[in-house]
Amino acid sequence: MTGNEKLRVTLLFLALLALPAASGAMANEKRITLSENLSVTEIEKDVFIITHSFPWPSNSLLIRVSNSDCILVNTLCDNQGARMLVDWVQNNFGEVNLIGINTGFHVDNLGGNEFLLSKGIAVYGSNLTAKLITERGQAEKSRLLEGFKSPENKKYYDAYKDLTFVPPNRIFDINEGLHLKIGDEDVNVFYPGPSHTIDNVVVYFSKRKILFGGCMIKSLDSKDAGYTADADMQKWPRSVEKLLSIYKDAKIVVPGHGDYGDTGLIKHTIELLDKINNQSAK
Ligand SMILES: [Zn+2]
Repeated sequence: MTGNEKLRVTLLFLALLALPAASGAMANEKRITLSENLSVTEIEKDVFIITHSFPWPSNSLLIRVSNSDCILVNTLCDNQGARMLVDWVQNNFGEVNLIGINTGFHVDNLGGNEFLLSKGIAVYGSNLTAKLITERGQAEKSRLLEGFKSPENKKYYDAYKDLTFVPPNRIFDINEGLHLKIGDEDVNVFYPGPSHTIDNVVVYFSKRKILFGGCMIKSLDSKDAGYTADADMQKWPRSVEKLLSIYKDAKIVVPGHGDYGDTGLIKHTIELLDKINNQSAK
């Protein structure tokens, strides 16, 4: 290679690096800050990723499926976050019907249930999720409070101290899943088997080809499996594998934490978990 060719290759390489990544914030996205720990990002028309950092950045997905209906997958981390989001929805879209869906029994899947239910908003969840919330909600809350005992975490301690883990009020059988037809949108809730928890489900909006993978799907920059105390590490990658064939047409995949992307997130999750399992088997 001549010096000139080398320079050209280097410049091309640098230009490729400068391209926006396939996931995360794209140039045309609108990000709105509702509070220091709550943001709403419109990733395409009527599709919003809500990131509630309380304290760990956690994703919910809000889709305006018709002029009068919105669906919220994961109900934020606490009641205050849910209240701010509902206010924002009403200010922007008027008095719409809002429906919540819980994708598991951890707090980042259901923290706003109490507020939503008090407003008459229906929240869907599986029978297993409802059972785990009832049986283990109090222990989950104690575990959270234990972690927030130091003075710098006082605001989290105070918020979670008053939080009640409330189960969803519209229950479906986890093995049958759930299908909702609202406006033009088909919403499918599917359980692929045990993963990050034994009850995590995914939600697919088939018209828009958007899959909310939740906590069973890791973002591309995840280097470890995260909090795994309730995980089934052996079955997790096999469960996620099912998503690859069922949702091969998905164009957007949203993880429970971190940047969204495409089906590459599903592949990354399988590779990461297989690697972790292989290492711990040695
Ligand atoms: Zn999570």
